[in-house]
Amino acid sequence: MIPGIRNNRKNYFLGYAAMKIVKLFYASTYKFHINVYCAMHIKKAVYLISSPSVDKCPTPNLPEYAFIGRSNVGKSSLINMLCNNDKLAKTSNSPGKTQMINHFEIASVSKTGDFDQTNWYLVDLPGYGFAKISLSSRRRWEQMIENYLKKRENLVSVFVLVDARHSPQKLDLDFIQKLDLWEVPFAIIFTKADKEKQAIVSKNVKSFLERLTRIRQFLPQHFVTSAVKKMGKNKVLDLITERNNEFKEQRKNAK
Ligand code: GDP
Repeated sequence: MIPGIRNNRKNYFLGYAAMKIVKLFYASTYKFHINVYCAMHIKKAVYLISSPSVDKCPTPNLPEYAFIGRSNVGKSSLINMLCNNDKLAKTSNSPGKTQMINHFEIASVSKTGDFDQTNWYLVDLPGYGFAKISLSSRRRWEQMIENYLKKRENLVSVFVLVDARHSPQKLDLDFIQKLDLWEVPFAIIFTKADKEKQAIVSKNVKSFLERLTRIRQFLPQHFVTSAVKKMGKNKVLDLITERNNEFKEQRKNAK
């Protein structure tokens, strides 16, 4: 064989092998990249306790996120979607627990921080806007929610759920106005986005945010979600990851 050809063939195989290695390297970093910038990984989500008042809630040692909205807004479905567990929020929907502060403890691993496990509380608050509710029950609900939101020291953020199929509702706007009055940080989650045409969802979201600009200086963070399509999940969990990391930092600095 002519030496030049042999060398060429050797070079060809070397080049081929090098290309394979580069491809494999890119494939693994690409996969890693996706994983890193994806939301947190939920390791465990368990129902903890239902409390009739803020002073009966678990020790406030973990970052806490409360979910609230009109009844039937899709709160249970959203909580289940976030926690990858179709039966989780049902626990707090059983009779006797619907008017309580329902705590779940979540163990997750952040893929953007230190990869350590973080435990946090997810709180399912009773929905507002029940048509058939006595005035005294409504007052009790209002008092319990107000006390909880004002006094819960580890409460990092409230997520206000708003049905994306409807134009802005007074009940939701009034509740947001109260959160501002009590200086409670919150974000908005528009739900059931799959149930309406995208153009209508966009219009409703836009007009809701436009209404908010009339009552507050800055727009809160907002997410458009669908529990059926698993849409918006990572973005909500990303925000929680970010806040969890801030909470850890603050607690560390306070020591
Ligand atoms: P909650 O009363 O606020 O806890 O609301 P649920 O989670 O029980 O949801 C009320 C109804 O809306 C149920 O029939 C759900 O199946 C439905 N639902 C909730 N979220 C979605 C969603 O994202 N898409 C669709 N198509 N239906 C939803």
